[in-house]
Amino acid sequence: MKRRSVLKMLGSGAILTCPLCNAHAAEKWGYEGPRGPEHWGNLDPSYAACSTGHQQSPVDLRGGIPAQLDEVQTFWRPFKLDILNNGHTIQVNVQSGSFMVLDGKRFDLLQFHFHHPSEHTLFGESFPMELHFVHKMTDGSLGVLGVFMTEGLESQTINTIWQNVPVDGGNRKVDTFIEPDTLLPHERTYFRYAGSLTTPPCSEVVSWTVMTQPITVSRRQIDAFSNLYPMNARPLQKLHRRFILGSF
Ligand SMILES: [Zn+2]
Repeated sequence: MKRRSVLKMLGSGAILTCPLCNAHAAEKWGYEGPRGPEHWGNLDPSYAACSTGHQQSPVDLRGGIPAQLDEVQTFWRPFKLDILNNGHTIQVNVQSGSFMVLDGKRFDLLQFHFHHPSEHTLFGESFPMELHFVHKMTDGSLGVLGVFMTEGLESQTINTIWQNVPVDGGNRKVDTFIEPDTLLPHERTYFRYAGSLTTPPCSEVVSWTVMTQPITVSRRQIDAFSNLYPMNARPLQKLHRRFILGSF
């Protein structure tokens, strides 16, 4: 069981069982029921921002104020796969040395992970999946680069990741290199706004950059993820007094 990949499970029909259900039961928060997003703020005092915050994510991205924003500059290196199945998502841990530059500041890439369906929406439209590249600055603030994933051509990089997912949970390191750049869209226009983590404790420390052009993955790749995580997207949050900027 341990060595089976998500794609193999999909093919065998064994996916009908839920290998993570027991792990989920032990989790403090989830995406439905009494531990779902509408209750996060009450589950733990440290989660208070989830219900009381006024700069929460995700939001619907539309009508961005045209702004003179720099192009997103990524300096990401190929690295050996290190995948964590943490019961909330599939997370790929990135070796140090990759970073992006945002408003002249350096943000180091720590990890990226996936949501199904998308958390942000674009002019009201939801996408099958969303990818979050989580970067951290030395002062502790985060810069997350969001990329929508839509159905289309298969992604070879996603195949490599899916084939190595520890379906029963936990961590797996593999002697295979991947290039994170291959998970970025060709077009680099984006929305920018001030927001939060989309999971508890919902800390309002995130500068969000969400690309307007999605990347494509195949139906089979979307299904493989959604069989493990049928729903791991927080609902849309109110914008309150925030402005959304557009790089176009
Ligand atoms: Zn995320």
